[in-house]
Amino acid sequence: MPRRLEGDFDYIVVGAGTAGCIMANRLSADPKNRVLILEAGGNDNWIWFHIPVGYLFAIGNPRSDWMFKTERGLPMAKR
Ligand SMILES: Cc1cc2nc3c(=O)[nH]c(=O)nc-3n(C[C@H](O)[C@H](O)[C@H](O)COP(=O)(O)OP(=O)(O)OC[C@H]3O[C@@H](n4cnc5c(N)ncnc54)[C@H](O)[C@@H]3O)c2cc1C
Repeated sequence: MPRRLEGDFDYIVVGAGTAGCIMANRLSADPKNRVLILEAGGNDNWIWFHIPVGYLFAIGNPRSDWMFKTERGLPMAKR
């Protein structure tokens, strides 16, 4: 069940991935800033997330992969 979150924030960072965590960390270094970071994904408590070769099990697995596909296009040499 979604948790209700109330409050006033100076910054809302959407996505606690690489960029989002760095951004939230830097913004929250100033104690004057109230920073909210939102993450849609689940926990990282799966063993394969913590072992380098684990990506073999993570890619293409809905547990860890949003499973989005891209359109063929010029930026990817029409792949
Ligand atoms: C298997 C694998 C191995 C890799 N290994 C390396 C490596 O060794 N070295 C290296 O430099 N790079 C590596 N990369 C690349 C690196 O992980 C990515 O380039 C980097 O994580 C991208 O950062 P990002 O912040 O743009 O996106 P992400 O880190 O993907 O963060 C985006 C976040 O936003 C969340 N999100 C999406 N939609 C929403 C929403 N609507 N609301 C809230 N949250 C949302 C996602 O769940 C995710 O947590 C690897 C990538 C993969 C897939």
